[in-house]
Amino acid sequence: MFTKTKVAALGAAAAIALTACASDDGEAAEVEAGDFPEGSTMAALAEAGEITIGTKFDQPLFGLLAPSGDPEGFDVEIGKIIAGELGISEDNITWTETVSANREPFIEDGSVDIVVATYTINDERKEVVSFAGPYYNAGQALMVMADNEDITGPDDLAGKAVCSVEGSTPAANIAENYPDAELSLFAAYTDCLEPLRNGQVDAVTTDNVILAGYVDESEGEFKIAGDQFTEEPYGIGLAHDDDEFRSWINDVLEEIFEDGRWLEAWNETAGTVLPEPTAPTVDRYEN
Ligand code: GLU
Repeated sequence: MFTKTKVAALGAAAAIALTACASDDGEAAEVEAGDFPEGSTMAALAEAGEITIGTKFDQPLFGLLAPSGDPEGFDVEIGKIIAGELGISEDNITWTETVSANREPFIEDGSVDIVVATYTINDERKEVVSFAGPYYNAGQALMVMADNEDITGPDDLAGKAVCSVEGSTPAANIAENYPDAELSLFAAYTDCLEPLRNGQVDAVTTDNVILAGYVDESEGEFKIAGDQFTEEPYGIGLAHDDDEFRSWINDVLEEIFEDGRWLEAWNETAGTVLPEPTAPTVDRYEN
């Protein structure tokens, strides 16, 4: 630590230059473990110089694996900003695919340090993991074939075949509140696209902004039917009892809502298709 502090002091001039262009070139800001409380997760990650982040790999606009082998999207940018604030550059991020059902287990068993994956904050999940955020508010919706006029909302789903994903809040909502829908569940939302195309299912349900990505890629084949019918506040998942880390990520979120980095990340990704959001209010709930 002593050596690192000395290096940091010697590199102060360079640090200013680095910090100035941190968000543009993917370089991490000059941050040292000693900048964080001793024993904190932030100090441990900064010291390690690397972080493992769980995200989606099949959701355009939020987390989609690119030919480069790394995912791209708004969630990915949020993950990069958090890493950067820990002094960790993009090259030192390990991206792990988290599908909806394995987000809590991956956090609990330490497979990932954080999850940024269209991850709705809710009380059930808060029993096993913690959430910083929200950093975006989505809502459940339905996607159908472009020529479908029968389905305009969840009340039209009785007797219809509906596709969603295991371990997701939209699937739980349909199972609980629309029991007359015939629900099939897969591991990931892209598993629902072919069944929709070939008529095996009538609708796909998840968050409006995820569906918007598939509609955008479908060249007129799919459309969103009706309006959103739930609130899905997106949080950053982390270990259940790590209040210090949660509070620090919340500080980072508030800072980037304020300084324009959040909107910049949005505009470069989801904002190419979706309207500009207003920044949500961070929820520093009591555990
Ligand atoms: N936001 C919802 C959830 O966390 C749906 C999207 C997803 O499955 O990632 O379950």
